Amino acid sequence: MTLIDQAIEALKLASRITAFTGAGISVESGIPPFRGATGLWNQYNPIFLDIHYFKKNTSESWKLIKKIFYDFMGEAKPNDAHFRLAQMENAGKLQAIITQNIDNLHQKAGSLNVYEFHGNSRDLVCMGCASRFPVTEINLKVLPPICKNCGGILKPDFIFFGEAIPEPANTRSFQEAEISDVFILIGTTGEIMPASTIPFLAKKNRATIIEINIAESNFTSAITDIFLKGKATEIVSELVEKLNSNRLNYDHKNH
Ligand code: NAD
Repeated sequence: MTLIDQAIEALKLASRITAFTGAGISVESGIPPFRGATGLWNQYNPIFLDIHYFKKNTSESWKLIKKIFYDFMGEAKPNDAHFRLAQMENAGKLQAIITQNIDNLHQKAGSLNVYEFHGNSRDLVCMGCASRFPVTEINLKVLPPICKNCGGILKPDFIFFGEAIPEPANTRSFQEAEISDVFILIGTTGEIMPASTIPFLAKKNRATIIEINIAESNFTSAITDIFLKGKATEIVSELVEKLNSNRLNYDHKNH
């Protein structure tokens, strides 16, 4: 049996499936990862995303935030991997997505049950009164952006270095790891804590771990049961197509 067929078998038998995604799933949408040879941190010093640095150097940090996360990332469109996961959810074959990404592409592709473990770039939140605004309503030509309600500084609603994981995404993500019987890891190195502990918890609770990545990760030799090497768009598409045709064959035989 090929590795893809083994993955299909596991998915067919599962009653609760969760996808756990990282920067790799959005690479084919044109968003580079942070680390690695082509990573953003080769071009920019990530200090501007440290919450203490941001508070002291707000305008300077905001210039880079606007350039990277809004002017550039804001233009990105979901790719086939995002769309196929939304299709799986719609067909009742995917119960949740836990994403470390902040690019909003799962939601743009139509996924509904998405836990944004690191928050998102869609909204800005006031550091004074916690008011929240869609970024589309805020003029980013004047930096830093200011809260209409209290005059406080607005920051993106994704977590900076030194900030806590947002609730309820934090609690729900660990709950999924306790109750899912398949976890599909897509495009993540497993180097970011505490996110990287979630698949380990799933494995401890007897989930089958299917991993899709162009290269081995920290998970591969530690917990992965079925490693599908390749680009997210290609492997996820193949998986979903085969899962659909398998289901049709199965339904056909039973009628
Ligand atoms: P990461 O852990 O997210 O690693 C990226 C992984 O993607 C690597 O394992 C790499 O081998 C794999 N990959 C690259 N191209 C791929 C493809 N086409 N198909 C499948 N896999 C592919 O590492 P990071 O980039 O350093 O991220 C650090 C943190 O920042 C993470 O939380 C990440 O999610 C977040 N981040 C988010 C975005 C985004 O929102 N799009 C972008 C960069 C980083």
